[in-house]
Amino acid sequence: MEKGLGMRLHSYIQGCWKAGRGRPVPLLSAVDGRLVAEVSSEGFDFSEVAAFGRQVGGPALRELTFHQRALLLKSLAQHLLEHKEEFYRLSRETGATRDDSWIDIEGGIATLFAYSGKGRRELPNSHVYVDGEPEPLSKNGTFVGQHIYTPMTGVAVHINAFNFPCWGMLEKLAPSFIAGMPCIVKPASQTAYLTELMARRILESGILPKGSLQLICGSIGDLLDHLSAQDAVTFTGSSGTGLMLRRHPALLRHSIRFTMEADSLNASVLGPDAQPGTPEFDLYIAEVVREMTVKCGQKCTAIRRALVPRAFVQPVIEALEARLRNLVIGDPWIPGVSMGALASRAQCSEVRERVNRIAQGARIVYDGAATQLPEGPLARQGAFFAPVVLYCDSPFENSQVHDIEAFGPVTTIVPYDDGAQAIELANRGQGSLVGSIFTGDDEFSRQLVLGIGAWHGRVLIVNRDCAAESTGHGSPLPGLIHGGPGRAGGGEEMGGIRGVLHYMQRNALQGSPTTLSRITGKWIRGAEPLTKPGHPFRKRLGELEVGESILTGKRQLTLADIEHFAKLSGDRFYAHMDEAAARANPFFEGRVAHGYFIVSAAAGLFVDPAPGPVLANYGLENLRFLAPVAPGDEIQVRFTCKQITPRETEDYGEVRWDCQVFNQAGVLVATYDVLTLVAKH
Ligand code: NAP
Repeated sequence: MEKGLGMRLHSYIQGCWKAGRGRPVPLLSAVDGRLVAEVSSEGFDFSEVAAFGRQVGGPALRELTFHQRALLLKSLAQHLLEHKEEFYRLSRETGATRDDSWIDIEGGIATLFAYSGKGRRELPNSHVYVDGEPEPLSKNGTFVGQHIYTPMTGVAVHINAFNFPCWGMLEKLAPSFIAGMPCIVKPASQTAYLTELMARRILESGILPKGSLQLICGSIGDLLDHLSAQDAVTFTGSSGTGLMLRRHPALLRHSIRFTMEADSLNASVLGPDAQPGTPEFDLYIAEVVREMTVKCGQKCTAIRRALVPRAFVQPVIEALEARLRNLVIGDPWIPGVSMGALASRAQCSEVRERVNRIAQGARIVYDGAATQLPEGPLARQGAFFAPVVLYCDSPFENSQVHDIEAFGPVTTIVPYDDGAQAIELANRGQGSLVGSIFTGDDEFSRQLVLGIGAWHGRVLIVNRDCAAESTGHGSPLPGLIHGGPGRAGGGEEMGGIRGVLHYMQRNALQGSPTTLSRITGKWIRGAEPLTKPGHPFRKRLGELEVGESILTGKRQLTLADIEHFAKLSGDRFYAHMDEAAARANPFFEGRVAHGYFIVSAAAGLFVDPAPGPVLANYGLENLRFLAPVAPGDEIQVRFTCKQITPRETEDYGEVRWDCQVFNQAGVLVATYDVLTLVAKH
């Protein structure tokens, strides 16, 4: 027996591992019914738990920059990968096959890596996130607005569902950690032993600052009573529990942020063009089967309703049956087994009861219960459930199929007659995490997306061109939002940096450009330029200052220059080359210089050419040509250090420069950001 099986789970609170008192709840293996662990959190002082997170974890985390926190996540991900085999072994007790566990364990670890990368690429290496461009608020530019985000100063309480004991913890931990908010993780009891094991490996690594992660195995008791305005709660689970938590008096009183990811009757639509024999038809069948069987159908994103053109109903039933018949259900640790068990025998009863309720408005067209379930002790002790396919012939008259989530390997085929019907039926789920469309007809996709977009958090469109690389209907991804409107909870998680911002407060800052530049670490136009001795290209990263600025010499752009540039680049667009044609253009009064020439000539003015700390120019951003430059015009550049982002693990960092190109009349003709890499030493 795996070390630790049958042990009372400990919670990690206030910096130590503690077991709850009282009568514990037994947690049984989904595979063979053995006692895996016991859980209780009785006797904990939850007000102290919250206070510890706020007072110890919060300040320690917020002292770090975004990049430093992101790097800790990367180290953590690497550390967890080294331990993955023990997570896989224990995951078997949840009923998961190795493939199922891969989503939970390595999918969760991959989310840490993804957030670490995004945090370092998309956030500054500082403490304030600048949201968008400054808002001009005054005629003379001495008073501006700028939206920023700063971390919330409370704790993030993450309440998770039983089906993803690892991913559920990590996908919530990653964005809150990068934001600078300490977490209190509460896994669902049924599979908390796996979360506890992973949390142990996290905590014993010593990678995370003290107090930044606490774990509660068992009930959270009166924790929510002790939350306040700076705290946040995220919940993943059934809509019933979510609704109850959302109405908690403390959450209402303090306007505590509450993110809910609930159940969802996700639909997948087979397009009218995807008739039997087409690649899209085969892809659809494979996806419906995958969504029914991965994690034994215990995925909030699984396909619960298969919407197919009425003419294809019978071929779809037959194709699904042909595939499902070959499933091997059993101990997920045994090679060759393709589907494991539900999380518990109680889940088996619940799923069967829900199938029966859906069947009041539909008919069962496939049920593997009689032939596919394992025999012997596993049958008596395990939580095995064979796949069930239903067919609802009158989906507008029977609401069960749109209302009842059977959280297992169950799907219902629903016929539709045209695109409008497909839209209406998909939306009868009253808000879903994900919808998918299998079609090669982009016009049909467009019609559907416009019709179902408002009711869905994510829409996947699969055709033969993208199928091989598609991540699938049921996979939430760190860079894309996960969540959905209405019944799905109305929440949003992940979505890259969007997910980080859920744990920060947006603030509309107002003041002088100079003050706001100092606060945000990002130079704002209108702020006083810093004139310092020496060319900024001669300065190492640590010697440069945001706001440091030079006004270059001038250069006249002649007709000969323009013709030279046309020859060199091959760009002989008429506006540069043909006086009469240029004049006929509504924007020009005659031939004008190439925009790219202006950019090149500007570089010739601001670049200091000798080898030095500037290592490379890696791009331009926000380039705009604002006024034409005619032959004979003279240009001059105001070049200002806008933002400095040291890279934690490299000997260099990024410097963003504000570049403004003026003509002899002081009119701004071009503006852009220049991005360079600058050495630290
Ligand atoms: P659940 O029974 O609603 O439980 C979810 C979580 O809430 C568990 O951690 C549970 O802890 C906790 N909880 C229950 N009562 C509570 C209370 N009074 N106060 C505080 N916490 C409480 O859901 P589940 O059975 O674990 O998960 C299955 C459901 O989750 C399905 O409906 C599925 O669709 C949904 N789900 C949604 C998503 C999504 O991202 N949208 C993902 C996965 C699952 P205990 O276990 O200790 O009771």
